[in-house]
Amino acid sequence: MPLVKTEAIVLRTMNYRETSKIATLYTRDYGKIRVLAKGIRRQKGGYGGASLDALTCDTIVFSYREGRSLLTLAQADILDPYLSLKESYEAISTAWQIIELVDRSLHDGEPNLRLYELLREALAQLKCERTHFEPVLFAFEIAFAESLGFALQFEGCIHCGEPLRFGGGKPGGFIFSPVLGGFTGPECSSEHAAGTKVSPGAVRSLQHLKEEGVAAAHIRFTLPVSNEIDALLSHFLRYHVDELDRPPASKQRRKNSAAGSASQDLHMRR
Ligand SMILES: [Zn+2]
Repeated sequence: MPLVKTEAIVLRTMNYRETSKIATLYTRDYGKIRVLAKGIRRQKGGYGGASLDALTCDTIVFSYREGRSLLTLAQADILDPYLSLKESYEAISTAWQIIELVDRSLHDGEPNLRLYELLREALAQLKCERTHFEPVLFAFEIAFAESLGFALQFEGCIHCGEPLRFGGGKPGGFIFSPVLGGFTGPECSSEHAAGTKVSPGAVRSLQHLKEEGVAAAHIRFTLPVSNEIDALLSHFLRYHVDELDRPPASKQRRKNSAAGSASQDLHMRR
């Protein structure tokens, strides 16, 4: 098997036998992989310095074979241990939420350079001194969805196509469809009342977060808006991550049924 070299974020590890470790990694070039690091807990200084701990970024060398579920690690060198991030409880808990989302949403393999870079960028943002980490998480979740092909849509009302208006029009809220990732505007929302109501402030903040991305996530929200965004994004991600998990045949069935009742929020468990 050929030895290959890439960069990886360690998502999760478990001890294996007396001295080894099995780690789940999100790599720059090979997507999500699982590696066996034989004897890594015995060797001081590990595989060239890295002890392969969760939430570190390493340069790794491993023997690659497509389709194999457990690969053998040959070498690992720490690129970034994210030490400053680990000094802040809020930063580390935000990082775990990001890491867990990546870990549970993705299948093995399936490289996605954009997603890898996004993950690196978000973790780098969490190293910066901040008082609020929530915008980084929200901006990551929005960009994460986009990198997997189900972006939030702000181009217009999903019912009539008119641009979304945040003031001056009819009073009232927007309605979010997790299935379509878009909003019904206030002008149509009374006729199409099924779904999750969202305030104009929350929709505008989401649009802002999408435009600015994790690097510029300095936006502040009021607590109610933050709660709305949190609920909406977990709804949205849960729906689509469940879709990613489903075998192709039933995925198609559900797509058809979803298209037939687009204004209804189907299958939501929140
Ligand atoms: Zn409309």
